Amino acid sequence: MRNIYDLDFDKMSEYLKEHDEKPFKANQIFDWLYKKRVTSFDQMTNLNKKFIEKLKTTFIFGDITILKKQKGKDVYKYLFELSDGEKIEAVLMFHNYGISLCVSTQVGCNIGCLFCESGRLKKVRNLTSGEMVLQILKIEEDIGKRISHVVIMGIGEPFDNYDEVMRFVRTINDNKGIGIGARHITISTSGLVPKINDFAKENLQVNLAISLHAANDEIRNKIMPINKVYNIDSLISVVKSYIKQTNRRVTFEYIMLEGINDNVSCAHELSFLLKGINCYVNLIPYNETNNFSFKKSSNTNIMRFYDILKKNNINVTVRREFGGELDAACGQLRSTN
Ligand code: SAH
Ligand code: SF4
Repeated sequence: MRNIYDLDFDKMSEYLKEHDEKPFKANQIFDWLYKKRVTSFDQMTNLNKKFIEKLKTTFIFGDITILKKQKGKDVYKYLFELSDGEKIEAVLMFHNYGISLCVSTQVGCNIGCLFCESGRLKKVRNLTSGEMVLQILKIEEDIGKRISHVVIMGIGEPFDNYDEVMRFVRTINDNKGIGIGARHITISTSGLVPKINDFAKENLQVNLAISLHAANDEIRNKIMPINKVYNIDSLISVVKSYIKQTNRRVTFEYIMLEGINDNVSCAHELSFLLKGINCYVNLIPYNETNNFSFKKSSNTNIMRFYDILKKNNINVTVRREFGGELDAACGQLRSTN
């Protein structure tokens, strides 16, 4: 049986075609699923009985369950149980510009960045697009409001689950589906170069964020093992090609780790590396966790770093800290609760 939420509009249309059904039925089904939000086929009252019985032989309504919800200032952290008992987390943030959800894409993560809690559990499996869609549906149902922004930055490396993540993006972006504007969707990757290349060709207006965290290979190799596979040169060159193809600005995320990547020469090196690239840098105060010895840079160091980038005409912001009190901040999400 297939989870009905795993199908984007094209896949749904394909199914109908294969079964000699009228194409407009895809619109009707999407309307029931994503506008009216029904949870059974019998509620789809404008479809005929025979067709409903046919759907029931192939599809089920997949489900994920909210096990726990923790509330902090302007943030809720949700712990979900998937149908096979695996667990993931998602984080909801209330901003002045809207409500954003940070979704997970995998159970665990294989990339193994040395500072990240999510990667302490090796990848158990990929999430299906339906399981990502359901994080949105369940939370919207819970809060009784619409989510305006989605950041694909929870547990997992989205580009290590490329096809499902793309299907998820298409379903939530589609006006016939959830209808979240592409510019309100951000995908963050640790830098899987070939996938960034593929992503450039998707013709999506989705934002791309690159977890850079260091301006030279020596430091990046130490904190992100992926750099030994795709080094900074290859990463920067694929980002340049992405920008050329899409005309879109890229975000570089840079965690500020005390004594590791936060000194003056790192700031100059980063400015030099990014000179002339249509990008901005998001400096992220490191969220300390019990399992690693990394320390968050002092505010003085963060501001010094910020000033150097500014002086070198690099667009830069310091990320507002969210959810630290709940272990809900970047890099603190787990699959092991
Ligand atoms: N796997 C993807 C997306 C999920 S991680 C990626 O790595 O980009 C989302 C962001 O949180 C990444 O930039 C990641 O480097 C950062 N992060 C991980 N651990 C963190 C921590 N303890 N404090 C702050 N940011 C962290
Ligand atoms: Fe995986 Fe991202 Fe964490 Fe690295 S930072 S271990 S890629 S989730």
